Amino acid sequence: MNLYEKATNEIERLFNWAVAEWPDKNLNKPTVSLNLRGKRAGTATFYFNGHPGEIRLNKKVFAENETSFLEQTIPHEYAHILANELFRNPKPHGREWKTVMRRMGKKPFLYHNYKVEPVKKYTKFHYKCARCGNDFEFTKIIHNKIISGRTSYFCRRCKRMIEKVDRI
Ligand SMILES: [Zn+2]
Ligand SMILES: [Zn+2]
Repeated sequence: MNLYEKATNEIERLFNWAVAEWPDKNLNKPTVSLNLRGKRAGTATFYFNGHPGEIRLNKKVFAENETSFLEQTIPHEYAHILANELFRNPKPHGREWKTVMRRMGKKPFLYHNYKVEPVKKYTKFHYKCARCGNDFEFTKIIHNKIISGRTSYFCRRCKRMIEKVDRI
């Protein structure tokens, strides 16, 4: 089995578990891609306006950390999608996401410890839309404007204000 098949199988397994766990919810099965680059191990985008949710994984980091990707990173990302479908406007790593992780039998770790080579000269700050899961990376200058309250950024996809998240 290649990495894509392993990731797809794991999502399939988690999705079937979730459907059995919350049979009254109309859950959507996310798609998987291995095209994420940079420092992050994985990201999740939510179902929105007929577009299925998507779990994007960093293929290089996956190849080097296969077991923990299957046991931690993929459940971590799928828990974002589930939390979004089960609860109203959950925070990216808030109480709802932690609840879902624990129901999966996983520890709600926020940070990964994979060795990832630096790919950029400048620190990027990772933001995420809490409604649709869309990802954003900002420079320190823009990040500082946001935290000082001098500016707000809204998601291009669903127009919600976006918030900072960690790296997984
Ligand atoms: Zn959005
Ligand atoms: Zn996360």
